[in-house]
Amino acid sequence: MAEAPVVVAIDGPAASGKGTLARRLAAHLGFAHLDTGLLYRATARRVIDAGGDAADGAAALRAARSLTAADLQGEGLREETVTAAASVVAANAAVRAALFDYQRGFAAAPPDGAPGAVLEGRDIGTVVCPDARVKIFLDAHEDVRARRRLRELLQRGAKGIHAEVLRDLRARDARDRGRAAAPLAPAEDAFVIDSSTMDADEVFRQALALIDTRTTIRK
Ligand code: C5P
Repeated sequence: MAEAPVVVAIDGPAASGKGTLARRLAAHLGFAHLDTGLLYRATARRVIDAGGDAADGAAALRAARSLTAADLQGEGLREETVTAAASVVAANAAVRAALFDYQRGFAAAPPDGAPGAVLEGRDIGTVVCPDARVKIFLDAHEDVRARRRLRELLQRGAKGIHAEVLRDLRARDARDRGRAAAPLAPAEDAFVIDSSTMDADEVFRQALALIDTRTTIRK
């Protein structure tokens, strides 16, 4: 029997550097990569485009159920209105349940026969893939995360000021941590990396060292 794919779960709050780490690990290890936040963003985008309200549970569930692969590549998924609405639809347990199969299917059978998958999100280690071989919870002080997010916004040509970015980040963190359905929290067996005073290279090295202790993938 073929070995089960190695699953690396990366969870953490907004702008903690999950995306950078997940992409880099996946490229390095030859694994598939899934940014699960895109599922919630695409759901929110559909609701907004249909003129609906993200807090309308029935509309959000309809949107989640009708997502296509093309939606995940859609325009404007990183816009601020979509970002805020994503964390509103994500608090809906039925929406979350509708998105499970896709995420678990990706982890169980990564595309293109990849030997493993890196999934990043909020509940990968706790709910989506509780048996993931490696679980990382990537955190950083909120002020550091707000500075990183602001830099990203400015690089994309968008506008922003630190105080506003920090306010939005706090509101989203509070929603993600405070919700009843799959709240953001480290899994009991997650390895917590606080990247407040680390650069991306250092985070990558720590994560890779952890993966080496848990798998034989690079041996
Ligand atoms: O990771 P990203 O910032 O793109 O996620 C957008 C929103 O989607 C988050 O604020 C969170 O509410 C939701 N999300 C989630 N569970 C995941 C991934 C994202 O609830 N696994």
